[in-house]
Amino acid sequence: MNIGVLGAGQLGRMLALAGYPLANRFTFLDTTGHPSAGIGDVMVYTDQHHLADFLAKVDLVTYEFEHLPVALVQAIEEVRPVYPSSEAIRVCQNRAEEKALFDRLGIPTPAYRLVESAEELEAAARELGAPVVAKSVTEGYDGKGQAVLRDPADAADAWRAIGHPRLIVEAFVDFVREVSIIAVRGRDGEVVFYPMAENQHVDGILRYSLAPMPDLDDSVQQTADDYIRALLDELDYVGVLTLELFQGADGSLLANEMAPRVHNSGHWTMDGAVTSQFENHLRAIQGLPLGDTAARMPTCMVNVIGQEGDPAAILAIADAHLHRYDKSERTGRKLGHVNLVANSHGELLSKVRTCAALLPESPEPRFSFE
Ligand code: AMP
Repeated sequence: MNIGVLGAGQLGRMLALAGYPLANRFTFLDTTGHPSAGIGDVMVYTDQHHLADFLAKVDLVTYEFEHLPVALVQAIEEVRPVYPSSEAIRVCQNRAEEKALFDRLGIPTPAYRLVESAEELEAAARELGAPVVAKSVTEGYDGKGQAVLRDPADAADAWRAIGHPRLIVEAFVDFVREVSIIAVRGRDGEVVFYPMAENQHVDGILRYSLAPMPDLDDSVQQTADDYIRALLDELDYVGVLTLELFQGADGSLLANEMAPRVHNSGHWTMDGAVTSQFENHLRAIQGLPLGDTAARMPTCMVNVIGQEGDPAAILAIADAHLHRYDKSERTGRKLGHVNLVANSHGELLSKVRTCAALLPESPEPRFSFE
């Protein structure tokens, strides 16, 4: 099976690494002009001619990046099966569509308003009560295109700074932790769920993901499973879906956003779960049985951002697994990640601190259960 992947970054690279044992081949179609997968057959999309070549090579198509022209994905769908469908992309690239879907399915979210001017932004901040978070409805990710308004009077500055014609304004959530749930749906509708992860972001960029959480109530995992199942079934989804949520002090969950793909907060599964998110995505889209999602041991993923640090010293940590993306160093760029596996959460946290000390500029690891 030759699998076509739209996008050619590190997520595509890791999909390919998981697919070779299944005898899959990979052809990537890059639409950014900066492919970094460094594996498989990479084509840079510039015209219809390249698209025709790509389609001639592949049996089915998936994607590792959702900021793609929906019309392109719909055109591909006419010729080859695309999993997940273009409908998932259409919804996930627009925060207003995403929130409307959450509302329709009864998945709670922070209170929000849609605004189209600085005046409307100010009014929304007053109505919701500052602080609020304003986000561009499209094109934002990793904290880009966002601003926090401490006061409604900040509206004009925030409007200018974001520079987008349509914003979503959300009440600022006083969460205990940020969490995510990753689930996989097969072509036959079977759904499996990974244990939820606790995620630490700094400046909107994920730095640490830990799973399973030592203090997670079964009922909270069940609630997250129910929310993501509703999304998967509604979208008749095939593949891996990620839902990011805020957890409150009483255990309640509010949905933040979703991603129609394998996700950074699921990288821990490569070494910490029986079947990785990458392998399970490939199983799902090929109509194969889904693999066990259980965690083997407490695991923490540490992102390597901006600078590589000391890879040899990182590898000297017991049960540390370094995954490098073969990219050049640049401020804020995701260059790799380390999965640390331990017998207990106490031991895990000490490994995380050792690892963080080997990575320049890595923030202090902080987890809600410490
Ligand atoms: P997003 O791009 O929506 O995932 O936002 C990036 C990060 O900003 C999140 O991971 C949170 O740390 C923070 N954030 C986003 N929305 C809110 C909110 N409504 N309340 C508090 N923090 C938020």
